[in-house]
Amino acid sequence: MPLPQPDGDGDKETRGRALVVAGSVPVPGGALLAGIGVLRAGAGKLQIATVASVAAHLGLALPEALVAGLHETPEGGIAAESAQALAERASHCDTVLIGPGMMDEPATAALTADLLRRLDPGGDGPRFVLDAGALAGLAQDPAPLHRHAGRVVVTPHAGEMAGLLGCPREQVDADPLGSARRAAARLKAVVALKGGCTRIVAPDGRAWAYRDGTVGLATSGSGDTLAGIVTGLLARGASPEQAAIWGVYLHGEAGNRLSSRIGPLGFLARELLAEIPAVMASLA
Ligand code: AMP
Ligand code: MG
Repeated sequence: MPLPQPDGDGDKETRGRALVVAGSVPVPGGALLAGIGVLRAGAGKLQIATVASVAAHLGLALPEALVAGLHETPEGGIAAESAQALAERASHCDTVLIGPGMMDEPATAALTADLLRRLDPGGDGPRFVLDAGALAGLAQDPAPLHRHAGRVVVTPHAGEMAGLLGCPREQVDADPLGSARRAAARLKAVVALKGGCTRIVAPDGRAWAYRDGTVGLATSGSGDTLAGIVTGLLARGASPEQAAIWGVYLHGEAGNRLSSRIGPLGFLARELLAEIPAVMASLA
């Protein structure tokens, strides 16, 4: 399952269009970390949709992106009524990431389900990465996700996995592989269950593990960068399995490079992202 290689004469359109739906008033930076992750993984074009009061700031922090501001809820999340406007944007994209830094759980759950329902399933529609806030609503009703079976990656940590399965976190910790397999079958999606050992499981139960990462990866914003990297690989044409496996590897190896250069603890999630091109190049 090789890492997608750059096509010598392709323009940015050929390396994929990604839409990142992320951020909130309390956690605006999740959108920034995920967005940079998309571009560092080599995707061609990036749009970010976030809460209106953050959009202009984000556009200046990440001038490479087209940034759209959406209506906010009183809790500072993206209002569920934005689904229609988002669906129009998403229908022109190859890949859509939903979740990093999104607050207001009920609004995020409603927005995610509505967006998944509005988009074409199959060849003409986008593929998806769901992380963090976008995972909460799937436990109650995975039906909107099933429309896109075989075209989705979800990236929960153990706590989010417990929410997805409706079980105590201790149960996930006791049997991470079994938990990831149950979630992959139930959601009909590739699951990357993150932790000291990250397990990637396909809906049919095939599984891979990455256990070579450094403890410094367990830092605020780290998962947002991983979600962006996986999204970027998916936009470039990787399959969901391939994007999840290589995304986890690139993220882990970026941490290992920082760990040996500046120390095992204290590097920032955003610093992982600048390492990604060199890690990718070392594999070519
Ligand atoms: P998140 O909790 O969403 O910010 O994601 C945390 C990231 O750190 C994931 O990529 C995990 O796989 C990684 N991680 C967490 N704990 C460890 C650990 N002890 N060793 C290596 N990586 C870890
Ligand atoms: Mg996270």
